[in-house]
Amino acid sequence: MAAIDPDPPDPHTHARSSDPHTSHAAAARLQRAVVHRLMIMDALKVIGSGTFEEIAEAAGMRDSQVWRRLPDLHDLGVAMPTGKERIGKSRRAQRIWTLGRCPHLHCGRGDKDADA
Ligand SMILES: [Zn+2]
Repeated sequence: MAAIDPDPPDPHTHARSSDPHTSHAAAARLQRAVVHRLMIMDALKVIGSGTFEEIAEAAGMRDSQVWRRLPDLHDLGVAMPTGKERIGKSRRAQRIWTLGRCPHLHCGRGDKDADA
């Protein structure tokens, strides 16, 4: 059923030139997510490691903007949980994150998709 797409999405914005406004909004959201990832990486360079709350404070971001992106950075091999935790504002233990490629030893991914 797959037909050839005469108007493939732009690999950078993921928006088609003929798309309605909503797809451009989606592309803008995607770009914001990329910016947020970079802001988190910069904050981690400064503070070394921290919970999402500490990263948010260092980066001048909202907590939710950080915890939404940490799994992305984990997947991308850019940031990883250290295996340590700290009690956060919510009084729940929060993972402490740092920059680096996760060996998937402490994160619960274990053997699932470890690098061969
Ligand atoms: Zn991992």
